[in-house]
Formats: sequence, structure tokens, C-alpha cells
Amino acid sequence: MKSWKGYVFFQDTIGFQYAHGDVFCLPSSAIFSALSPKCHWMTLTHEISHAIFTVMDIDAKHAEIILEGARRALTYYGESLDNRSIELSQNQFFELFAQWFDYYHFFNEDHDFYQKSIWISWLYVPFVHKDQTEYIFRSFAVFVLRDISALHESVYAVTESDFLKARWRDFISFVRLNLPETEQISFEEKEDAVLALAADYLFPFSFLALEYRLDSFRHRLNEMPANFQLQIETIFSGAVIPESIANPFLLVREATRRATSGDNESIIRAASAALIFTLRDASHFDFRFPSSE
Ligand SMILES: [Zn+2]
Repeated sequence: MKSWKGYVFFQDTIGFQYAHGDVFCLPSSAIFSALSPKCHWMTLTHEISHAIFTVMDIDAKHAEIILEGARRALTYYGESLDNRSIELSQNQFFELFAQWFDYYHFFNEDHDFYQKSIWISWLYVPFVHKDQTEYIFRSFAVFVLRDISALHESVYAVTESDFLKARWRDFISFVRLNLPETEQISFEEKEDAVLALAADYLFPFSFLALEYRLDSFRHRLNEMPANFQLQIETIFSGAVIPESIANPFLLVREATRRATSGDNESIIRAASAALIFTLRDASHFDFRFPSSE
């Protein structure tokens, strides 16, 4: 396996992005605002998931699955696979992998928090509003992939498209109940386009998801130190934690959870500063990429 030899690049044009050459691009305001809805640091775990896809050479190892997605996406009978349709499929798998890997490992399958976290940052991004189908699809994909065996059984029990339609109705109820901030996004209007993408890619992708559940990596990310709740309280009182931090990742994630659950803006700003100062010496954390398990 290759190791990551990239660097972090701060800029103000492309938001969070994993770029060629193993570079993580971050908005420059992220340096000072770890917990703001616009650029909270948990957005970075999506980009790290892209890096894992690249470092583990997943598209080369699973070219058959990507071809299957491209075949399913052909729009009329007799159309043949060309480079363009394969590239579209590669892009979809690259994104689906990042969405799902992030949800399963970094968010530890906490679905409701995951959806909240992605949508509050997406709502600030202009191209999310322009290309709503794509982002609704990514969010719907994680909603469906929570239960991969139900997806697989659907192929035999009911038809796959009836299954996806039923999941779509549940998804819309979930969004209305839990994500009131997304009311400007036209979910219902995009139903046909999102279900078409789901029918093309979700079933083949589910086999990648089954193969890349790296549970010892996930457990390492989620190890909770004994005094953890006290550390979160300290951060949200605006104070810096004096002792060394055993799991900086978990501190960032749980502080983000607390910040998205409704504290007022000045408390979040103070907590964000306290978190950044607390983590200034946390570079000792052994944050290894997963190896195959
Ligand atoms: Zn992405």
C-alpha cells in the first residue's frame, strides 16, 4: 500500500477538496473556526476518505464493479460502454466511497448526526444548490446503505426499483423530520433523477462497502478516554484542556456534535478557539491509514 505524502493547502476558491498529488485543500477560514457550520473540521473526514480510496488503489482493484455501474447507467438498449461512461462511473464510486466510508468509520454509523453534519456544511456551498440531484443522491445513498442486506434481499424479494422507491419515501420523511434547515432544497422534484442514479450505482457499490469495513481502524477512532465528557464541558466553557489529548479526532467530532445541537454562536466561537488551542500539541496522535484487515 502507498503511504500519504501530501500536504495541506489553504485557499479561498474551492472549499474542502482532496486534490491530485495527495493534497488536502481547506478554506483558509478553517484555521480559525473548527466548529463553525460553514467550515467545521469534520468536513475534512470526507476528504480523508477520498485519500483512502486513492491510497488503497480501489478503482484499479475493483474495475469490474465500476464497469458494472457504467453498464447499468447506459440509457438505452444497445448503447455501448465508452470511456466517458466509465469515467462517470469512476467518479460516482469515488464519491460514494467517500460518503459511505466517512459515515461508517469517522461517524461510527451515527446516521442522524452524519446527515446533519453534511447538510449544514453543504448548504453553504453554491454548487450544492446548482447540482441538487447529485448531493441528494449522496445523502440518500448513505440512508440506503445503512442496511446492505436489505438492499441485497430486495433484488430477490421485491424488485430493486420498488425497494428503492419505498426507501425514498422513508428518506423524505426522515429529511422533513430531522433536517428542517434543508427546506430550500427541492428533494421531491429530484425524485426520478435520484432514483435513477440509485438504481445504477447502489447495488454494485454495496459490494465495495462490504469489503472495506475496516473495524479495527474504526474502533481506534472511537476509543473514548475516561474523562472525555469533562473535556467536552471544558471546551464548551471556553477553556483550554491542560492535559494531553488521547484521541484528538474524537474530541473534534464530539465538539462538532455539540455545536450542531443548538448552542448559541458566541459559545460555539469560544469553544472553537478552546479546541484549536487544546489541539496545538496533539501532533503525537498516531493516525494511521487503515491497512487491509
Ligand atoms: Zn467528495
